[in-house]
Amino acid sequence: MIKYDYIVVGAGSAGCVLANRLSENTKHTVALIEAGGSDNHPWIHIPVGYIKTMAMPGVNWLFDSEPEPNTFNRSIPIPRGRGLGGSSSINAMVYVRGQPDDYNGWGQMGNRGWSYDDILPYFKKSENFEMGYDEYRGIGGPLNVANTRQTYPFMDDLINAAVETGYGKAADYNGKSQAGFNYFQVTQKNGLRFSAARAYLNPAKKRKNLHIIKNAHVTKVIIEGKVAKGIKYISNNVEESIFTKREVILSAGSIQSPQLLELSGIGEPNLLKKNGIEVKQDLIGVGENYQDHYIARLVWRASKRETLNEELQGIGLVKQALKFALFRRGALTVTAGLVAGFVKSDNALATPDIQYHIAPASFADPKKRKLDKWPGLTIGPCQLRPHSRGSVHIKSIDPMAHPLIKPNFLSSEIDKQVLVKGMNIARDLVKAPALRKWIDKEELPGSLEKTNDELLNYARQTGATLYHPAGTCKMGHDEKAVVDDQLRVHGIKDLRVVDASIMPKLVSGNTNAATIMIAEKGADLIRTRSD
Ligand SMILES: Cc1cc2nc3c(=O)[nH]c(=O)nc-3n(C[C@H](O)[C@H](O)[C@H](O)COP(=O)(O)OP(=O)(O)OC[C@H]3O[C@@H](n4cnc5c(N)ncnc54)[C@H](O)[C@@H]3O)c2cc1C
Repeated sequence: MIKYDYIVVGAGSAGCVLANRLSENTKHTVALIEAGGSDNHPWIHIPVGYIKTMAMPGVNWLFDSEPEPNTFNRSIPIPRGRGLGGSSSINAMVYVRGQPDDYNGWGQMGNRGWSYDDILPYFKKSENFEMGYDEYRGIGGPLNVANTRQTYPFMDDLINAAVETGYGKAADYNGKSQAGFNYFQVTQKNGLRFSAARAYLNPAKKRKNLHIIKNAHVTKVIIEGKVAKGIKYISNNVEESIFTKREVILSAGSIQSPQLLELSGIGEPNLLKKNGIEVKQDLIGVGENYQDHYIARLVWRASKRETLNEELQGIGLVKQALKFALFRRGALTVTAGLVAGFVKSDNALATPDIQYHIAPASFADPKKRKLDKWPGLTIGPCQLRPHSRGSVHIKSIDPMAHPLIKPNFLSSEIDKQVLVKGMNIARDLVKAPALRKWIDKEELPGSLEKTNDELLNYARQTGATLYHPAGTCKMGHDEKAVVDDQLRVHGIKDLRVVDASIMPKLVSGNTNAATIMIAEKGADLIRTRSD
């Protein structure tokens, strides 16, 4: 019988952190089990490869949502990373922590140790911010955080337009105040992706007490009585089992951690019984409380051929490829967004509730995923603190089957209003003097769409996930909570969930930084366990 002190399921953003931190003590053996393979595909490392890996089998689970009426019965693609680094190997690399009030809110829900002052040290510990340290920022940590290496006069003027319209320039949106516009900070080093695997796994890989098992699809947690004893996984069509001396930790992400709990008999009893699964623990919240950011994209034709559309096609691409090969600079270091904006939909609010992802680039037809031939600008607003709640649940007892994902986007009235407000503010921004000279005409939704209802209709028809599912194994103490504030699964001993799924409420920003913070803190909770 093979026994490890710790078994970590999933080598994504959280799993890589845990594998590193838990194996720091050479007396503890750690198994890290990952369904996917290595992270050596070049498109993972070259930032612009993001456009490819978004739809690349092998490195991506390629989930789809169920058709839902609020989003015009479309099945929305839900990419998730597969392989070392998980989603941090295919994400857009933008580094955004969210707002202090997000974490203070978690604390106010009764989660001890998760208020902003408690978790700020973990953000600082995790990062190496190239711009240096201060009260909010850290240096010397495993995760390299850099300013974007590429700037554009067009985007400089967009930031100037934000200043002209009163939204301001953000000094450091991860520092004292999030509000305003500026270039994104990115998890990159010298122009290459800095995934959680690169940050945390590569330095730990050679440790003798860390065993990384790739291409191994975990099918269930072995539970005896009310205690987690190990896991089963399938590798090369053979089922294997490994066991733990201390704990099993699920870090399979917001889609698959709840799936694994349900497959293991932890969840809503009727659902489990319907699928022929023996109930080990009645936990009605598993797979519920699904939250995600929903983005609507507005596209303009630009008046000058100084955008990524030209730089990443034809002769422009040849020049940029050379620039990247020689200096690790230029358009190939850019991903989905270059400039971030954080604004309030209503001045009465204490903090921003809209985030913008802005790029001097455009896909008028996102399905074709081809940059337009004309110079373009995309501004994508999202409601930062959505009220809509969805779910993810198993469809069957088959562990290889994709679960049923129902994001339930735009089911809340306030989410619709904030999104439409975000679209209107974007339209105002392009009319500001600094930006006007760069704009030819609005392409999408197009100037015929004038009313709020028309804008909402466009958003419902064309919007997409911002890839931040969270909350499906939420931390808390109410009847729908799945883990406690030590991230232990309620009712089952020696089993934790440590990943984006434990967020009781989605943070006001992109989720990679917060997930890495959760895992840094989770590792400390595990290491200092006293019972
Ligand atoms: C396309 C995309 C773009 C994004 N852009 C950004 C961004 O720019 N900035 C940002 O902050 N956030 C971004 N995100 C979100 C961010 O990357 C995620 O929130 C974060 O990586 C989640 O970490 P996690 O550990 O919860 O899950 P993941 O990183 O998804 O890790 C889960 C791991 O578990 C493995 N796994 C799942 N099931 C099993 C199983 N049964 N057996 C074995 N292994 C299993 C998976 O293969 C995966 O490796 C993006 C995400 C995507 C997909």
